[in-house]
Amino acid sequence: MPNLTAARPFTARDFAARTGRAAEAAAAAGLAGLVVTPGPDLLYLTGYQPVAITERLTALLLSAGREPVLLVPRLERPDAEACPGASSLRLLDWADGADPYPVLAPLLDPHGSYGISDAAWAMHLLGLQEALPDSGYRSLTRAVPMLRAVKDADELERLGGAGGAADAAYRSILEVRFAGRRETEVAADLAELLLEYGHSRVDFTVVGSGPNGANPHHEAGERVITEGDTVVLDFGGLRDGYGSDTTRTVHVGPDVPAEVREVHEVVRVAQQKAFEAVRQGVECQEIDRVARRVITEAGYGEYFIHRTGHGIGLTTHEPPYMVEGETQPLVPGMCFSIEPGIYLPGRFGVRIEDIVTVTATGGRRLNNTPHELGIVA
Ligand code: ZN
Ligand code: ZN
Ligand code: ZN
Repeated sequence: MPNLTAARPFTARDFAARTGRAAEAAAAAGLAGLVVTPGPDLLYLTGYQPVAITERLTALLLSAGREPVLLVPRLERPDAEACPGASSLRLLDWADGADPYPVLAPLLDPHGSYGISDAAWAMHLLGLQEALPDSGYRSLTRAVPMLRAVKDADELERLGGAGGAADAAYRSILEVRFAGRRETEVAADLAELLLEYGHSRVDFTVVGSGPNGANPHHEAGERVITEGDTVVLDFGGLRDGYGSDTTRTVHVGPDVPAEVREVHEVVRVAQQKAFEAVRQGVECQEIDRVARRVITEAGYGEYFIHRTGHGIGLTTHEPPYMVEGETQPLVPGMCFSIEPGIYLPGRFGVRIEDIVTVTATGGRRLNNTPHELGIVA
């Protein structure tokens, strides 16, 4: 059973440290500051998440050496005042019927370049550009990609808890019936298990049986699973605010064809070697190269059709990415997936995925179920 005790809540001091670091990172990236709208970055920096994300402008403005400012719709001010990071923010509001951009604009450098949330509404970005025609904007993730990438001890505890809960769901799913049931039914079982083991939200439950397993992002469909199928199970969601994401491949019935065994073993070795390559200072692309080399040398290189991994935290896909061309060095506290796979079109797929964190001495897995091909009934 996973540890279901709640982690220590993040405090005003945590959020103040994060906004300070973010403002410094923006300055180091040559930016006048950051404009953060509702989503994972705002949650990370303030603990604030409006009840509903609507067309009304909510924006956090961070600039090095200046007090952070959170502009909110007046009717949402009480909610914002109650957020855990509120004590180190200056709150401003704007009333319905007013134009919010002239309220925010005087706080920005009119000639400055700002990082703005990736998911900020275009209407808000256009409103700022109209109010300050000489200001410039860059995607926040592109400007400061490592903003949330290095997790602190409390975040690691949450990610470990999410991983442990996903592992418990996998162990339990091995006991359910596969043969004769639809993929959607097994997916529903997985979702139920994730919630049972403490997830607040299920983000995906991939059940790719037989040929469907050859599509890495096949979710689950009406196909009825039969004896002899190889099935890719990839599932995760949020627990205590942080993500889980794990994949194991199982076979329905004990008579596993030699080819399935061989492909599975290649993927297992690729995942293991990539994990063993995790060390601080190693470039992200090296993790991808190590996994890809194993699969290519075994003759399956053209069937490994996606990057080796992605970061995970408040969201299930975020920097750092384990992909060719990513020269960012690994730093202790980073968390990401290692998930090589082989996809044989029209036949079957195999993927093995663990979340891994970088430690002072190497890597540590946050998923710890066996890598062997699971046998289900
Ligand atoms: Zn994915
Ligand atoms: Zn996954
Ligand atoms: Zn993943």
